[in-house]
Amino acid sequence: MYVNLGELKKKGSFKKFSDRYSPDNIDYFNRKVKIPADFEVSLTVYKDSDSFIFIGRLSGKFILECSRCLQEFEQEIDRELNFTIPAEDIAEISKVDISSYIHEVLILAIPIKALCDSECQGICSQCGADLNQHSCDCSQEELDPRLAKLEQFFDDN
Ligand SMILES: [Zn+2]
Ligand SMILES: [Zn+2]
Repeated sequence: MYVNLGELKKKGSFKKFSDRYSPDNIDYFNRKVKIPADFEVSLTVYKDSDSFIFIGRLSGKFILECSRCLQEFEQEIDRELNFTIPAEDIAEISKVDISSYIHEVLILAIPIKALCDSECQGICSQCGADLNQHSCDCSQEELDPRLAKLEQFFDDN
């Protein structure tokens, strides 16, 4: 994502702009995070003595896999953007690339442990039934050791 800052010559001058940011699907600690649509970016950039200050918002949604029931679900995000680029770091004032700043906020917005719902019942460790859809007759005492490990993995993360 590029922005032209050439018109901001005086300290205190500013401009507002909005754009769409379209990252590819993100590989996040081996979890594929899907991006169903572009993210919306709206920013105001201020010229300071020797830097440019960006303030605004990033909004959009991820498709995540629930760590309990393994179903995909959409999660909306709306994050504050606030970053500064020193003028000396800018090679071409008419074409300043701000993608990495947006991307960093996007990555930090991904929840480490994704839950489709705080009440999600998960899947039965024995018969594999999605307990949000229907209950099963299994005793919940014994855990399949493989699934127990998986459960522990998600709990630790
Ligand atoms: Zn779930
Ligand atoms: Zn069961």
